[in-house]
Amino acid sequence: MKIRHLSLRLFLSYLAVIAVTLLALTLVVQVSLPGVYGRHMGAVEGNAPGMGMGMGRGGGTMLYQNFRASFSEALTWAGLAALLVALLVSWLISRRLSAPIQAMTVASQRISEGNYDERVPAAGADEIGLLAESFNRMAGKLAQTEALRRQLIGDVAHELRTPLTAIKGSLEGLADGVLPATAETFTQLGEEADRLSRLVDDLQELSRVEAGAYRLERAAVKMQDLVETARRRLARSFEAKGVALTVELPSEPLVVLADADRIGQVLANLLGNALQYTPAGGRVTVRLEAGAGEARLSVTDTGIGIPAEHLARIFDRFYRVDKSRSRRAGGGAGIGLTIARHLVEAHGGRIWAESEGEGRGSRFTFTLPLAAA
Ligand code: ADP
Repeated sequence: MKIRHLSLRLFLSYLAVIAVTLLALTLVVQVSLPGVYGRHMGAVEGNAPGMGMGMGRGGGTMLYQNFRASFSEALTWAGLAALLVALLVSWLISRRLSAPIQAMTVASQRISEGNYDERVPAAGADEIGLLAESFNRMAGKLAQTEALRRQLIGDVAHELRTPLTAIKGSLEGLADGVLPATAETFTQLGEEADRLSRLVDDLQELSRVEAGAYRLERAAVKMQDLVETARRRLARSFEAKGVALTVELPSEPLVVLADADRIGQVLANLLGNALQYTPAGGRVTVRLEAGAGEARLSVTDTGIGIPAEHLARIFDRFYRVDKSRSRRAGGGAGIGLTIARHLVEAHGGRIWAESEGEGRGSRFTFTLPLAAA
């Protein structure tokens, strides 16, 4: 039987100590009494020879006194033995109870010294066991956070290095006279600097969003209006690249309780990506529809698509399907979708990506709960 409450376990432990003590007491009395009694009775017979087994009045008193003496002696031995047994059992039980707590103390010290792999052994089904379990879970989370932090620093360093190397190379070329000081060179330099400052802006936004250091100014927003605004803003870029932009809206208004700027940012990011990864001559379709208690907005493109193995990861920070491809295509550092996911989830919605595979287009969908009528 599994005992799930520490208080019950302690109670049963005390009971066990008492029971074992009583048992020891009884046993020792039982075992020692005949011998002790015989010795005392021998003394009685020695003292009063010929009086038989204490039949007279004086003999009766003596008998009683000797019985008392033998009983006290037996009880003293039994008491001592019981005390020893009680000490031993209590020591064993308290060691069993405190061992997992000691293990956790040692483990937490080791974790605070940076050994994030430290775990404690499972400790049963009571509160201490639950504590050990949640301790291990916490240690796991810490290890994960630490790994993410390391990776983040590595990623940021890598992202900064590439444009910086390019800028430094160009400047050295200019200084040595290897690179002509033409307008084209300066434009290229400017582009790299732009890339750097975009990256820094994105990083700042990412850290704000991940830390939850922003406020959602929520209000009743008609989704149709958001789509129209985004379409108006991006129409020229789509035209310039030669990608068609189609919008399909439902006739009934879909009202959500949202921060219009933030959701506009998500939509702009999805449309920007669709435009970015769709070659000229392609098509991007924005479709808004009502689901079960939610507004559902999808952006479908006929672009380069996303291989299945990357679909789940493109919302991770710095994740890009093909780093060189997205850099050549003028893509970002793989932060946009991470921010989009945070913003959608902060609104109580979901966001996901689908694609039939490379070269077969992609569809990004997000949902937002509809405002109660
Ligand atoms: P980036 O700034 O690099 O576009 P995102 O977080 O917006 O970063 O996107 C992450 C990656 O997901 C992109 O680098 C790209 O590989 C892939 N991706 C996003 N949108 C699309 C799309 N519409 N078609 C194909 N790939 C896409």
